[in-house]
Amino acid sequence: MTMTRRDFLSASAAIAAAPALGAQAFAAPLPREADIVVIGAGAAGIAAARRIMAANRKVIVVEATGQIGGRCLTDTATFETPFDRGARWMHNPDTNPMIRLARGAGLDISAAPLGQKIRIGRRYARAGETEEFLAALVRANRAIDDASRGKADVSCASVVPKELGDWAGTAEFVLGASFTGKDLKDVSAMDKARAQDRNAAIACHQGLGTLIAKLGADVPLSLSTPANHIVWNGRDVTVETQAGRIAARAAIITVSSNVLAAGNIKFTPDLPKRQFDAAARLSLGSYDRIALQLPGNPMGLSRDDVIIEQSNSTRTALLFADLSGSSLCVIDVAGSFGRDLSNQGEPAMAAFAVEWLTKLFGSDAASAVRKTSATRWNSAPFALGAMSVAAPGGQPSRKILTEPIGCMFLAGEATHETLWGTVDGAWDSGERAAEAALRKIGALRDEATAAPAPPPKHHRRATPARTAMPRAPIN
Ligand SMILES: Cc1cc2nc3c(=O)[nH]c(=O)nc-3n(C[C@H](O)[C@H](O)[C@H](O)COP(=O)(O)OP(=O)(O)OC[C@H]3O[C@@H](n4cnc5c(N)ncnc54)[C@H](O)[C@@H]3O)c2cc1C
Repeated sequence: MTMTRRDFLSASAAIAAAPALGAQAFAAPLPREADIVVIGAGAAGIAAARRIMAANRKVIVVEATGQIGGRCLTDTATFETPFDRGARWMHNPDTNPMIRLARGAGLDISAAPLGQKIRIGRRYARAGETEEFLAALVRANRAIDDASRGKADVSCASVVPKELGDWAGTAEFVLGASFTGKDLKDVSAMDKARAQDRNAAIACHQGLGTLIAKLGADVPLSLSTPANHIVWNGRDVTVETQAGRIAARAAIITVSSNVLAAGNIKFTPDLPKRQFDAAARLSLGSYDRIALQLPGNPMGLSRDDVIIEQSNSTRTALLFADLSGSSLCVIDVAGSFGRDLSNQGEPAMAAFAVEWLTKLFGSDAASAVRKTSATRWNSAPFALGAMSVAAPGGQPSRKILTEPIGCMFLAGEATHETLWGTVDGAWDSGERAAEAALRKIGALRDEATAAPAPPPKHHRRATPARTAMPRAPIN
């Protein structure tokens, strides 16, 4: 039986190949001063910089890698079709600003069609089996929602019903690794329950990395310029890089929670323990993509089909077939299994993908593989993982990360209470931090009287309605 996308979505919740992007960089020496300096040119950093520019203030973005996008990274060199090595899907079309921005940037977007399927060995699940699985997911998600209303935050694994039978491994994968990058034992029930539903999957044909690069095309930024040292107080801040020093009245820091907690940027005085510990409690899960070129559609799948399997363990994966109608298929691995696999390197990841496809579709699929490429986000030095999720007890850390630290403001997906782990959450957090920084330097008052170009429309999210249905699995 084929689950409808609605069923499926409601029911579940390295930088190896640099993309061929025309990212803009400073050829000239770094400016020595700015009103606000932004660290990181991912979605949050570009959103922050655009907001500051809209307020007619001087901004400079320093980015450690050679391209704009961060965890939105489109590889246009390896395959004929753009391969999103990081984020691919835009959810919640009614509120997601990325969809409007993609259209405005002249990029093509389309919703993945219905047609998600569950494999049980070499066959598809029958109607009754799919219903059993959906019921298992509903029970598991309801237990997590109920637990999240308790006084103490607990792990999702501790409350998920034990008797999910043949579907226990699949439910664990769909609700845990595939949604958050971590196994349910490492995921806070409160954080999971607060995550906003991700109720549609819309792709940008040119890639989400391409989108963020386009959105950052007019932003003053310096690529390949890691911030090494930030000297701060309540009035101003100095950011030191190998290319020089920038003095500013405020800084917005968008690096991932793992980069922050690793201490890779030195702060003087030290980053307060409160924020440092909060970043550590929001560590990144492991989520990687193994792309395979599979010409001739040997699995007989349709464009953008999503396949999961009945599994009794976490050694499982998620298949996106025939991306945008091409011969590119992507197998996502995540959680502790995905972390161990990616530690073994790309050949081991490709070997797993082939073995998994053979198990589910036979050897024809495996022998059709022409080219492979795999991401290894845990070893990408300026990301150090995929997406944040709170450890049990760690959900309040998200709010802590939004507190100002002198004239520094943290942004990035980990600082979003309901859209963590998403591009739109990162974007929203960048706009929020920019407004806080502009207020700190007195620029929002000025902006009202100076009548500059209108700021980008700021969308606010309603607290997600609690639903008995589980959350989307698609990242
Ligand atoms: C494999 C994968 C799949 C995903 N799938 C989806 C999806 O389908 N849909 C979705 O919505 N989200 C998805 N996500 C999550 C999404 O990619 C992130 O939530 C989002 O891109 C994070 O943006 P950010 O700006 O917060 O952080 P980042 O993108 O990490 O940006 C931070 C930037 O800071 C830079 N930096 C780090 N250290 C320094 C330094 N010292 N100096 C200067 N710069 C520095 C980094 O290079 C980076 O460019 C996925 C993530 C991964 C990894």
